Amino acid sequence: MHVAVLGAGVVGVTTAHFLAEAGHDVTVVEKATGVAEACSHANGAQLSYSYTDAMASPSFLLRMPGLLAGNDAAIRVRPPLDRDLLQWGLAFLAQCSRSKAAANMLANLELASRSAQLLRELRNLLPSDFHYREAGKLVLLRTARELDDARRASDIKAELGIRASVITIAEAADIEPAIAYMNGPYAGAVYSPGDDVGDAREFAALVAERLDHKGHTRFQFETEVLGFVRESNAIRGVKTSHGDLEADATVVCLGAWSPGLLKDVGVTAPINPARGYSVTLPPGSRMPSASVTDFGRRFVISRLGEKVRIAGFADFVGFSTVKDEARIEQLMAIARNTAPEAADYACPEINPWGGNRPLTPDGRPLVGPTHLDGLFLNTGHGSLGWTLACATAEQLTSAVSGEASSNQPRRTQYPSASPFPAETSSSRPG
Ligand SMILES: Cc1cc2nc3c(=O)[nH]c(=O)nc-3n(C[C@H](O)[C@H](O)[C@H](O)COP(=O)(O)OP(=O)(O)OC[C@H]3O[C@@H](n4cnc5c(N)ncnc54)[C@H](O)[C@@H]3O)c2cc1C
Repeated sequence: MHVAVLGAGVVGVTTAHFLAEAGHDVTVVEKATGVAEACSHANGAQLSYSYTDAMASPSFLLRMPGLLAGNDAAIRVRPPLDRDLLQWGLAFLAQCSRSKAAANMLANLELASRSAQLLRELRNLLPSDFHYREAGKLVLLRTARELDDARRASDIKAELGIRASVITIAEAADIEPAIAYMNGPYAGAVYSPGDDVGDAREFAALVAERLDHKGHTRFQFETEVLGFVRESNAIRGVKTSHGDLEADATVVCLGAWSPGLLKDVGVTAPINPARGYSVTLPPGSRMPSASVTDFGRRFVISRLGEKVRIAGFADFVGFSTVKDEARIEQLMAIARNTAPEAADYACPEINPWGGNRPLTPDGRPLVGPTHLDGLFLNTGHGSLGWTLACATAEQLTSAVSGEASSNQPRRTQYPSASPFPAETSSSRPG
């Protein structure tokens, strides 16, 4: 079967790998000049297999007053007044209850566990290691409320055999001495020893290189997808800036850009861009070895070889990039105040970057067939695209191949409580 994969981010490239391994001929269509040029380029580098807590949560609701007043440095909302965004925002708020946040965390946890296994297998096929490390993850919390929420999540995870223990700051500093040199105040931490780090862009480049060498997969870069080739209730390929491309199956892996094209064929993908930023710096005198997240200030510190990646913030500003420079400066200032010795902040080369997380209201990706024959989705991975890429690529490949694999979660419809019309039968694990 010839499959067109739209988008060469970490999700598209990983999807191409699983499809090719299943024996399909694959063409990846990408508007940029290479792989992982958009949201997968310089993200937080965390493979958060145990920490899949959704952004929509009771603690997000608590932040709302500060956020609406513009006082929350980590989250900015300057949306264009647009009906889709308003609907998306209401659906997001509806996911902030304790029970929904727990269900969403669990669904992604199941995917993440499968992803961990698949990525470890895939690593063995690659010629080098994309700065992969079994680093462990520490999430630093500031309030008693955050600790209570973390304990509840930790208990649920423990029942599934996943270690994410709530510990004191002294215990966290024993695990990662660099924490003693960070400025809280912190009330405690969550330690997930099974979480890893790795460079998503390097990973995507290595996978693409392997696909190139093996044959059966073509990459068409600098080719923009303009629309779908539709015949009644079926999609037969795509219209691109270089002409039409016929395909037996078409998989949308366009990240935050997915909804625009899908809307033209009546498929609603509730995805909103949540912009975040990163800098990549030389190490400071106390560079953490474990990955460290400051939950309240919403940034992470990850060591990638001899560099430190500091990534964070979530801005709901559409696709606007006008404030990027100011936000990068703020990220640097907050990181410098919080972890002054983690990185060499004086270095003139900070490698600034901004990317759009493709965020669904419930933080869960959209994976599977749509109501149109031949059209599939693997998109909407939000804050966890690098973490979940292998598992959703495997699920998608089963859907395209028409298999019901025993080791995959059952698929369910998009929640009927959603304000979005259920035009798509695109499914999600549940
Ligand atoms: C600051 C930040 C930190 C993050 N940290 C982490 C982390 O630590 N761990 C984690 O798991 N996740 C993290 N994420 C999330 C993760 O980076 C994303 O979920 C992931 O990159 C999404 O991958 P994707 O392939 O779906 O999208 P993208 O990487 O955005 O790929 C979509 C591709 O589609 C292409 N495209 C768009 N429109 C067209 C068109 N019309 N024609 C052709 N091509 C098109 C784009 O050029 C792009 O290459 C972070 C995100 C941010 C912003």
